[in-house]
Amino acid sequence: MIYRDVDMTNSSTLRLISTAAAKLTIHTISDIQDAINFCHEKNLPMMPLGDGSNVILSSTVNACILDMAMLGIDVINENSTNIWVRVGAGENWHEWVTHALSKNWFGLENLALIPGRVGAAPIQNIGAYGIEVASYIDSVEYVDLSRNHVTDLSVLQLKSDECQFSYRNSIFKQHRSNRLITSVTFCLDKVFTPHTDYPSLRQRIVALDVPNPHAVDIFQAVINLREKKLPDPKLLPNAGSFFKNVQINPATLERLLEKYPSLPFYEVNDDQSACVKLPAAWLIEYCGFKGQQIGSLAMHANQALVLINKGLDEGFQNNTAEKVLAFADTIIRSVRQEFDLTLDIEPQFIE
Ligand SMILES: Cc1cc2nc3c(=O)[nH]c(=O)nc-3n(C[C@H](O)[C@H](O)[C@H](O)COP(=O)(O)OP(=O)(O)OC[C@H]3O[C@@H](n4cnc5c(N)ncnc54)[C@H](O)[C@@H]3O)c2cc1C
Repeated sequence: MIYRDVDMTNSSTLRLISTAAAKLTIHTISDIQDAINFCHEKNLPMMPLGDGSNVILSSTVNACILDMAMLGIDVINENSTNIWVRVGAGENWHEWVTHALSKNWFGLENLALIPGRVGAAPIQNIGAYGIEVASYIDSVEYVDLSRNHVTDLSVLQLKSDECQFSYRNSIFKQHRSNRLITSVTFCLDKVFTPHTDYPSLRQRIVALDVPNPHAVDIFQAVINLREKKLPDPKLLPNAGSFFKNVQINPATLERLLEKYPSLPFYEVNDDQSACVKLPAAWLIEYCGFKGQQIGSLAMHANQALVLINKGLDEGFQNNTAEKVLAFADTIIRSVRQEFDLTLDIEPQFIE
C-alpha cells in the first residue's frame, strides 16, 4: 500500500520527529517492481528501511521508504558439517538467531538480541561479543535499484568475499540506496564451536561454572549481558552504539599512550584495517560526556557510547535529527581537541 507524507516518528528506535514523502511495504519481488515504477513516475529516490535501529531520520525525508517485509527461511543445501539457509530480508534478526539455534545450526549465538531485520545485517556487518556476521554469510541477494527503468527485475547475488565486509562496513553501506537486499544466505555449522574470547563474555561463562558451555549457554549469556548493559529502545529511545570504535596505527597508539597511559586498546585481526582499535566509549567518557545531558539528549550514564533521546519525557519537546547531529558534533569536536582523533557516527543519516 502507498502512503504520502508518512509520519516516521515511530519508525526508528531513536524516535525522532520525521516525515517521509512516501512509504511502501515490500513483501514480494513484484512489490519492488511496483515501487520502482511509482518512484520513477513521482521522481522520488528510494530508501530501504528495516526496524530503524541504525538510522537517524531527518525531519523531512525526501524519499520513498521501502519497508522491507520479505519473509521466508529455506534450507538450500547441506553436507555433514554445514547447512546453507536463505532468509528473507524482513525476518526479525533475533527470531532468526533463536530459530537457527533451535535447529542446532550454530554460529550466530554471539549475535543474539541485536535489534533489526535480517536484510540490514550485512549492511554494516553487524557484530558483537567477538563475532561479525560476515563470518557466517555465504551470499547476499539483492535488486539493483539504480536500474530503475527496467521492467523485468532480476535478483542479483554477491558472494561473501565480494561484499567488502570490514568493521561495521560493506559494499552495501557504501552504495546503500542502490542495492535493495531481498535475502541473505547463511552458511552455519552443524558442529558447535564456542567463541568466548571476548572478555565480558568469557567472564560471564566462567561465572556460570559450566565446564563445556554449549551454544544455548553462550546465547543466554549474551542476552543477559546485553539486557544489563544496553538501554531498551522501547523505554529509552536510542540507536545502540552511536559512534564507531576508532581504528589507529601503532605509531598513533604510541603517541597517545605517552600522554594517556591507561588508554585501553585492542588488536584487530582484519587485513584491511589498521591494527589497533580504541573504545570510543572511553574517549567520550574521558571528555566528560558520559551521562551528560544537553537539552533532552544525553549520553547514557552506564554506557557512554549510547546516545539517548529523552525528548519524549514529560516537559520536553521531542528531538529532531538536526539536534542529534549538533549534539554529536559537540562530542566529536571535544574528542578531536583532546586526542586529535575523529569519531565516526555509526547510524546512517537518512534525508
Ligand atoms: C539497543 C541497540 C543495540 C544494538 N546493538 C548492536 C550490536 O551489538 N552490533 C551491531 O552491529 N549493531 C547493533 N545495533 C545497530 C542495529 O541493530 C543493526 O545495525 C541492525 O542490523 C539494523 O537493523 P534494522 O532493520 O533496524 O536496519 P535499519 O536501521 O532500518 O537500516 C539500517 C541501514 O540499512 C539499510 N537497509 C535496511 N534494510 C535494507 C535492505 N533490505 N536492503 C538494503 N538496505 C537496507 C537502511 O537504508 C539503513 O541505511 C544496535 C541498535 C540498538 C538500538
